[in-house]
Amino acid sequence: MAGKLVIFSGPFGAGKSTIVKHLRDIDEFALAFSISATSRPKREGEMEGKDYYFMSVDDFRSRIEDNDFIEWEEVYPKQYYGTLKSEITRLTREGNNIIFDVDVVGGSNIKRMNRDKAISVFIKPPSMEVLEERLEQRKTESEESKQKRLKKAKLELTYARRFDHVITNDDLKRATIEAEKLVRDFLTE
Ligand code: 5GP
Repeated sequence: MAGKLVIFSGPFGAGKSTIVKHLRDIDEFALAFSISATSRPKREGEMEGKDYYFMSVDDFRSRIEDNDFIEWEEVYPKQYYGTLKSEITRLTREGNNIIFDVDVVGGSNIKRMNRDKAISVFIKPPSMEVLEERLEQRKTESEESKQKRLKKAKLELTYARRFDHVITNDDLKRATIEAEKLVRDFLTE
C-alpha cells in the first residue's frame, strides 16, 4: 500500500493538524509527513526539519525560480508555503505513504496532479464563530495575524466542494474517528 497520498486541508483552527498528528501515529498506515518549506517565522517549540524547513522570503523566491516546488502558495502576504520536490523524492524513496497538511489551494492542486493515488479531505470548522473562539484561545498568533487568518478562512471555506470528503469538526473525537476510517478504507482498497 506504499506510495499513496493523503491530503488534509482546511482553514487554520479547524483542527486538521490535530487530526493529522493522530493519523501519523497509527503505525499500520505508514504515513510519513510531508515537511513543507515556509518563509513564516518559526513559532515557539517548532523545529527546523521537523515542523517545517524554514527559510527567508528571498530564499523561498529563489527556490520558486529554480522550480524546486511541486506546489507553493503565498498563503498570507509575504508568508510562502510550499512542498519541495526533494521532500517527495525522499519520502517516496523510503517506501512510505505521504500525508500532507496544506492550505486549500495546495491541497486541491496536489489532488489534481495525482488523481488515482490521492485522497483529499477538507476539515471544516462547525461555524465562523467557533473558528473565532478557537483562534482567540491560541497564544501563538498576534492580533494582526488572527485577523488575517479569519478573513482568509471565509474564502477557504468555499473550496470545500473541490475535495473528495468533507469532515465537520464539531467534535474532535468523532471527526478523528471519521478521518481514520476514510484513510483506512483508502489505504486498503
Ligand atoms: P501554519 O502557519 O499555521 O503552520 O500554516 C498555515 C497554512 O499553510 C495552513 O493552512 C497549512 O496547512 C498551510 N501549509 C503548510 N504547508 C503548506 C504547503 O506546503 N503548501 C501549501 N499550499 N500550504 C501549506
